[in-house]
Amino acid sequence: MPSALVFFTELADAPSKAQRELLTLAASIGEPTVAVASEVSQATAEQLASYGVAKLLVAPANHASFLEHSLSVLEAAVKQSTADVVLVANDNFNREVAARIAVRVEGSIITDAINVSADLVVTKDELAGSYSAQAQATGGVLFVTLKPNSIEDAPQSAAAEVSINELATETSAAEKVRIVGTEEKVVSDRPKLTEARVVVAGGRGVNGDFGAVEQLADALGGAVGASRAATDAGWISHDAQIGQTGVTVSPQVFISAGISGAIQQKAGMQTSKCIIAINKDVDAPVFEIADFGIVGDLAKVLPQAAEEIRRRQA
Ligand SMILES: Cc1cc2nc3c(=O)[nH]c(=O)nc-3n(C[C@H](O)[C@H](O)[C@H](O)COP(=O)(O)OP(=O)(O)OC[C@H]3O[C@@H](n4cnc5c(N)ncnc54)[C@H](O)[C@@H]3O)c2cc1C
Repeated sequence: MPSALVFFTELADAPSKAQRELLTLAASIGEPTVAVASEVSQATAEQLASYGVAKLLVAPANHASFLEHSLSVLEAAVKQSTADVVLVANDNFNREVAARIAVRVEGSIITDAINVSADLVVTKDELAGSYSAQAQATGGVLFVTLKPNSIEDAPQSAAAEVSINELATETSAAEKVRIVGTEEKVVSDRPKLTEARVVVAGGRGVNGDFGAVEQLADALGGAVGASRAATDAGWISHDAQIGQTGVTVSPQVFISAGISGAIQQKAGMQTSKCIIAINKDVDAPVFEIADFGIVGDLAKVLPQAAEEIRRRQA
């Protein structure tokens, strides 16, 4: 039976949905070990037990750059755990960390995975979700980055004891970057864009006002996204950009409002399970991939939809 190592840069008291999906997948492959590049509370460690995790390797962040620290933690964990497969999140930071360590340990890496079988066959999206492919590594430890919303979170009922072990890492003699201060990022109450079950995204058609997009997202408990035209115009933060040069999302429901559906934009959302498009132009390319289309003015459609959803929820 292969053994799986799950790597997290940090683990909050309540593991995020994407983290629980990684743990569920690891448990389906073999008894997982978890490595975390920051401190982990006892309560969090106990939650891992419900995913069959027996061993937790922890290395709290030091004053080196967080990238350097994460690299040394993952490298040390891979060497110590003798894992056959290493599962990490699919965001840019984790992909870079996984790829660099895969090279260092002469392993293999497969990104954008949506599943890994017990015999380590990886199912992944190709060409922005237009195709799905199965891939198998031919040598070394296999590193896999898993797309959020690909696996159903399913903790196991039989919980075991988790042993917490401090991981000894090698600090680079010549630190290239040193952290001299940190500032908390402003966070919203909305779910993380890449992990949300519902995403409502606005484009140039919102004409500078994301109010209606935000109200519909809040009525649905969803996240707010945007096209590059909207982020470039400064109407919303660049973190919200979905597409080839932004983030990739794959929610249960994606609502596109005032977005034409350029190929670079579709690359970031076309694996969504259900796509609802609102556009005043009946010929907008977004309708080619939409499951439901509404030809109309988003300034009228979005508030009506939000109001009806709130009425039904009341
Ligand atoms: C290398 C490269 C990378 C790129 N990466 C990305 C990326 O990551 N993400 C991304 O989004 N783009 C990306 N782009 C840009 C992309 O090609 C498009 O230019 C961009 O997606 C257009 O954004 P948009 O659909 O909001 O604007 P537009 O194409 O201008 O479309 C606006 C749409 O809103 C509709 N509309 C206007 N008013 C209303 C209204 N009141 N009600 C309803 N509908 C209305 C219009 O009919 C139109 O279809 C990239 C481009 C390049 C070259």
